[in-house]
Amino acid sequence: MSLIVQKFGGTSVADLERIQNVAGRIAATRGNWDRVIVVVSAMAGETDRYINLAHELSPDPAGRELDILLASGERITSSLLAISLSSRGVPAISLTGGQAGIRTEGTHTRARVRTIQPKRIHQELDGGKVVIAAGFQGVDQFNEEQTLGRGGSDLTAVALAAALEADLCEIYTDVDGVYTADPRIEPSARRLERISYDEMMELASLGAKVLQPRSVDLAAKYRLQLVVRSSFTEGEGTLITPDTGGIEAPAVNGVSCDKKQSKLTAVGVADRPGIAASLFGTLAEKSIIVDMIVQNVSDHGLTDISITVNRDTAEEAERVMCETHAGGDAGKITRDDAVAKVSVVGIGMKSQAGVASRTFAALARERINIMMISTSEISISVIVQEAQAEDAVRALHREFIA
Ligand code: ADP
Ligand code: ASP
Ligand code: MG
Repeated sequence: MSLIVQKFGGTSVADLERIQNVAGRIAATRGNWDRVIVVVSAMAGETDRYINLAHELSPDPAGRELDILLASGERITSSLLAISLSSRGVPAISLTGGQAGIRTEGTHTRARVRTIQPKRIHQELDGGKVVIAAGFQGVDQFNEEQTLGRGGSDLTAVALAAALEADLCEIYTDVDGVYTADPRIEPSARRLERISYDEMMELASLGAKVLQPRSVDLAAKYRLQLVVRSSFTEGEGTLITPDTGGIEAPAVNGVSCDKKQSKLTAVGVADRPGIAASLFGTLAEKSIIVDMIVQNVSDHGLTDISITVNRDTAEEAERVMCETHAGGDAGKITRDDAVAKVSVVGIGMKSQAGVASRTFAALARERINIMMISTSEISISVIVQEAQAEDAVRALHREFIA
C-alpha cells in the first residue's frame, strides 16, 4: 500500500482560505495514494506571538508551560484542516503529537524524538481516514507536552515518514524548492532540482530555514525520499537525494545566512587546563548548543574565549557563563546580539583549492569585516555584523554562483 506524508508550513495554513486550499490539495493527493498522513504547522506568526505573550508576563517562563502554550498552535491548524476536509466529504482526523504516538525526551522547548508508536495512526489509516498530525510536538515518558525546537514540524513529518516507511515525504512551503540562496535575499538565486543530503544538511544547519536541520539528518539516515515544494504553485520542487548525480560538483552549491546568532566572549579567562571544560560542561548541561569557538593566544596567563550560539539561547548562555565564572576565572562576559553567520556550502570544495581565499576576497571587496571563521569539509562560515549579512550573501552568490 502506498503511503505519503505531506507537511504544510505556517504560511501555507496562515488563514482559512489557505487551509481550504491545503484541503483541496490533500483531497487530490488521496486520488493517487492509498494512505495519506498530513503534518501541519501553526498559522504563520502564531508561535512567535505565543512566545511574546509569555515573555510579557515573565522574563523567564517555565519550559513546561511554554510547551503547552506552543503546542496549541499546531493543534488549532490540525483540527481546522480536519474540519475543512470532512466538510468536503474527505474523512479525516486530527491527532496531537502525543495521540500520534510521538514520544520525546530532553529539554522542554527543544526536545528530541525518542520513538514513535504508530498504533493509533495505523488504526485511523486502516479506517480510511486522512491522519492530520499536529507538528512540532510530542509527549515525554511522564506524558508531559514537549516541543521540538523552532521549525520542528519538518522533523515531525520526516520522523513519521521514517517510522511508517512512507514512500515519499513532501514539505510544502512558501517557496517552490531549495534555492542557491534565500530568494528573499538574493533575487537571482535559482532553484536546485536536486541537492544531496550532505549539502542540504549543511545549508540547513547554517541557517537556510527552508528545512529544519534535524529533519534532514533523519531523512538521510533512513534514505527517505524528501521533496520541498510550494503549496501555492505546481512544480517539481527540489528532491533531496543521496547524491546529485553530477560528475563534478561545483565548489559552491549554495549560500546560507543565519541572522539569529549571538556572540559571547569570556574576557580574561585563566589560561590553564580545565577552564574550557568547566565552561562548556555547564553550557552542555543546559542543552545549549555552542556553534563556533575561538580562543585567543594567551597573554600573561589570560586568554579570551568567544563562542556563538543561537540567539534564542543567548540570554541563558550568558547567565550560565557568568555563573561558571563567578569564582573569578574570567574578568567579564560580553554579549553581542547584532551578528550573523554567512556560509558557502558545496561538496565540490573538498577537491578544489582557493574557495576560502575567494570567499574572503569577495567580502573584502564589499568592505565587510569578518569577526570569526569556521570551516567544515564542505562549508566555510564567517561571522559578520548583522547589518552586513545580506550584502555578504549577495557578494558570495555573485562570486560563486551567479
Ligand atoms: P514554513 O513555514 O513553510 O516551514 P519556513 O519559513 O520555515 O517555511 O522556510 C521557508 C523559507 O526559507 C522561505 O520563505 C525562504 O525565505 C527561506 N530560505 C532560506 N534559505 C533558503 C533556500 N536556500 N532556499 C529556499 N528557501 C530558503
Ligand atoms: N510553529 C513552529 C515554529 O514556528 C514549528 C514549525 O512551524 O515548524 O517554529
Ligand atoms: Mg519551517
